[in-house]
Amino acid sequence: MDLDVTSYFNIVYVSQQRLWTGSRINKNKKMVEHLQSSGVIRSKKVAEVMETIDRALFVPEDASPYMDSPMQIGYNATISAPHMHATCLELLENHLKPGMHSLDVGSGTGYLTACFAIMVGPEGRAVGVEHIPELVESSLQNVQKSAAAPLLKAGSLVLHTGDGRLGWPEHSPYDAIHVGAAAPEIPQALIDQLKPGGRLVIPVGNIFQDLQVVDKNPDGSVSIRSETSVRYVPLTSREAQLRG
Ligand code: SAH
Repeated sequence: MDLDVTSYFNIVYVSQQRLWTGSRINKNKKMVEHLQSSGVIRSKKVAEVMETIDRALFVPEDASPYMDSPMQIGYNATISAPHMHATCLELLENHLKPGMHSLDVGSGTGYLTACFAIMVGPEGRAVGVEHIPELVESSLQNVQKSAAAPLLKAGSLVLHTGDGRLGWPEHSPYDAIHVGAAAPEIPQALIDQLKPGGRLVIPVGNIFQDLQVVDKNPDGSVSIRSETSVRYVPLTSREAQLRG
């Protein structure tokens, strides 16, 4: 077979891309296996979704995507560590069944919103709210490269710019609400937008923070418990965040 130089380079380029993509997916799988063997992930569904959404597509290019630590994403924000994403997915799993509605406040890179979208599927809805417009823009690009891209195209995954302390009333009530930044106290709007039987997972506090699990009971009352101590960036105004 005669090949001109361009075809030759194309073949080499494509096969290297495949190799590279293949080894990256392997590394993402290794990260998930590590979280399973250390007991952070117990649910098969959570392992599956974290394998489906490649974390490398959501971190800055010079970062180590599979390292278990938070990373700077600009604008005084961070992508949470894989074990925190896994913990929140585990806590919300029963509220992210196919067809359910979810809200991700402080959606940042869009990683968790994409995981939620895969879990609730095309019949469900995954809404992300982030107050830095540049992060919303880059999160849309991240999602477009990921396995959740068809859900974004079909409209079951949406990413909005706004103050997440107000929730996103348009698509409420939600079965699952996740907040990716620490609130001084639980915003009432988020409790109001939770369905009876729904669950809110939110870091609460200033310097010392607790990851709180808020369950709305069928009669509308709420039960609150603390899951673990955490350290998140604050849920605040855009101006205060950019001031640093
Ligand atoms: N869970 C995301 C981001 C975590 S960082 C991820 O892992 O990628 C917390 C995010 O909350 C930041 O992107 C920050 O800009 C955002 N944030 C802080 N206060 C907010 C507010 N009032 N409304 C919306 N987003 C907010």
